[in-house]
Amino acid sequence: MSAAQTEPGDENGRYHRQSLISWWEQDRLAAARVLVVGAGALGNELVKNLALAGVGTVVVADMDTIENSNLSRCVFFRSSDEGRMKAEVVCEAAAGLNPDVEFIPVVGDIRHAIGLGSFTGFDLVLGGLDNREARLHTNQACWKAGIPWVDGAIEGLMGVVRVFTPPDSACYECTMSERDHELLAARRTCALLTREEMLDGKVPTTGTSASVVAGMQVQEAIKLLHQDRLPTSMAGKGFVVNGMTHDSYIVDYPRQDACMSHDTYALSQAEVVPRDETFRELLERGAAAHGLPLADVTIDLEHDVIVAFTCPVHGRGDDEPVLLTKATVGSALCPVCSAERALDVRHSVSSVDADLLNLSAADLGLPPADALTARSLSGRVHFMLDDPHPWQIVDAQLVEEEAR
Ligand SMILES: [Zn+2]
Ligand SMILES: [Zn+2]
Repeated sequence: MSAAQTEPGDENGRYHRQSLISWWEQDRLAAARVLVVGAGALGNELVKNLALAGVGTVVVADMDTIENSNLSRCVFFRSSDEGRMKAEVVCEAAAGLNPDVEFIPVVGDIRHAIGLGSFTGFDLVLGGLDNREARLHTNQACWKAGIPWVDGAIEGLMGVVRVFTPPDSACYECTMSERDHELLAARRTCALLTREEMLDGKVPTTGTSASVVAGMQVQEAIKLLHQDRLPTSMAGKGFVVNGMTHDSYIVDYPRQDACMSHDTYALSQAEVVPRDETFRELLERGAAAHGLPLADVTIDLEHDVIVAFTCPVHGRGDDEPVLLTKATVGSALCPVCSAERALDVRHSVSSVDADLLNLSAADLGLPPADALTARSLSGRVHFMLDDPHPWQIVDAQLVEEEAR
């Protein structure tokens, strides 16, 4: 921590003016760990505001490279950065803005790049996303891990900021319209989506809309970090702004009882297990935790895994298991005859799955710090995989585990 942060009375201190706000505690910001999902137009503005405010740790996740068409909306990108990973460039450039902040890039698809257990290491999550699938994943991960998240969306001069606080507020899925659900259901009938198909399409956006919305998002993030000191809350609400007319209003989203995204896991109590432990051993662990025979326990995974590809002519291929979100359309084709192969997709493992019992979570490609759930008729017990990411967002329990 810099001297500027420890001496609030210093009128020349970097954070002096914001520290004059009665409820503001700069130390809270300095201690906060925030995940920014998406490093595009919104993501650049989110990171810029977090950096200036002095949020201690900012992790930026994005799977894309920089294109020329990004340059009009992204303060951290230069034309010489074309072709480089967005997450890495944002983190490098933001470090120059404020040396007090630690920036950590995660290059990958949010749907599998960050294990669910790692979400518990964040104080909150900010969404700078452009598609429904990534929003739904982020929403469900935040609910399971019990982490508030602030979503931002822009189209033209329209913007919306939504604040979701598990377990009690409305969630992102609660805000989805019937049309959203129809589009999503239509998409889910196709197992393998190309990157192009996953995106909702290129929407018209401007850097100014991104500034407005991301500014509001970070303001909400700072308020969430001080929620116990504030009289108001935006939980379960949206702020909609029309940049053309400057009409703006608050939407109070009703919490939908039938919503499928309200599952919460008690991950802080989860036992940390080796990522290379076999599913037979995991089932034994689950059976012991439940006090039941092995056959009465099922291990639920957080991901769909393709365990076999079968050609109608050439039979089962010798492919390694792969997460459904990592598989490409091309990988589903037979390497001999190019016929479309049948996918054997699993979401759980029980004692009848003889083909998987000697494999481990690592063999299936499940990410470090991912969660596994041992389910029986008597309830659920959660496990967290060890071997956390090198960027060391670790739960207190993982640190204890390593110290033993
Ligand atoms: Zn919901
Ligand atoms: Zn074939």
